[in-house]
Amino acid sequence: MLTDRFERVHDYLRISLTDTCNLRCVYCMPEEKIKCMPSSQLMSVDEIDQLARIFVNNGVRKIRLTGGEPLARKDAGEIIQCLSKYPVELTLTTNGVFADQYLDLFLKAGIRSLNVSLDTLSPASFFALTKRDLWEKTWRNIMLMIDAGLHVKTNTVVMKGVNDHEIVDFVALTKDLPIHVRFIEFMPFQGNSWEHDKVFPMSQMLELLAEKFSFIKLLDAKHDTAKKFKVLNYEGTFALISTMSEHFCAGCNRMRLTADGKMKNCLFSQSEVDLLGALRSGQEIEPLIQFCLDMKEKALGGQLLPDYEKIDAGALKNRSMIAIGG
Ligand code: SAM
Ligand code: SF4
Repeated sequence: MLTDRFERVHDYLRISLTDTCNLRCVYCMPEEKIKCMPSSQLMSVDEIDQLARIFVNNGVRKIRLTGGEPLARKDAGEIIQCLSKYPVELTLTTNGVFADQYLDLFLKAGIRSLNVSLDTLSPASFFALTKRDLWEKTWRNIMLMIDAGLHVKTNTVVMKGVNDHEIVDFVALTKDLPIHVRFIEFMPFQGNSWEHDKVFPMSQMLELLAEKFSFIKLLDAKHDTAKKFKVLNYEGTFALISTMSEHFCAGCNRMRLTADGKMKNCLFSQSEVDLLGALRSGQEIEPLIQFCLDMKEKALGGQLLPDYEKIDAGALKNRSMIAIGG
């Protein structure tokens, strides 16, 4: 079992497949021109498999593929197929644009649930937020996935003055659709122009929703990052991910591998441990995984302040979100 200094057992690995993407979300991609990792620096299918096997042998029970856009990688299908042999819950976070091409494979690989980013219900705002005219395609693919029986959770990064007025419309979707909408507080990463007054905190989201809907709190599992709710008699659910206003680090079971094979013990960690370099030079990996976990801070990577209004985003030492893998 992989345990840190605070006795948190880590059984969930998020693997980033690439730092490239077909969209340009304002909160994720740095404003300056980005230099993508050369493909020689990326983990190959076989290297992903070797590292995943070591994590699984040490107790990992859930693997999420992410990125960048995981499905933008040419060999994404091969990677999904390869990891499906492990006794883990295999899942993905995707922008959904290519999902139609992978639907059969998802089902064959035993994927039951996926997270799909969707920040707006308006095609024009989608273009403004992502620089791509792909709202209809994304929406169509979300419907395809639901029709195929997949448990679809949408991720909406809520930014004050940008899309906070759509929260109610998103929850209204759950009336007739078995969809699980999730609202994520806007988080600071390198180059994403984060400012504390762009955060729309969970408490305000709940106040806003309480004016429109009668909802109940659902039980959350031990390691859940999202606080789940359901409007009475609605098909779907909604949830809030309150990283900035009320973190959930006490129950954290997550580890990350960047696309270039660096292990991060937290989304906000400054430290990284080069597992891919070690694998390529024939070193033992298990001690390095434990070394990385031993550096894990109690909360928020030891970098963010629990009072988000006091965070100096310019002083944070981290990658951009797209280069970490969300
Ligand atoms: N391309 C895939 C997607 O968009 O779902 C996977 C990668 S993306 C980096 C993973 C998740 O991180 C997405 O749900 C995205 O909305 C979220 N994300 C990116 N930047 C964020 C930020 N600054 N604050 C909060 N969530 C963010
Ligand atoms: Fe691409 Fe996902 Fe980042 Fe948007 S959030 S730019 S879809 S990686």
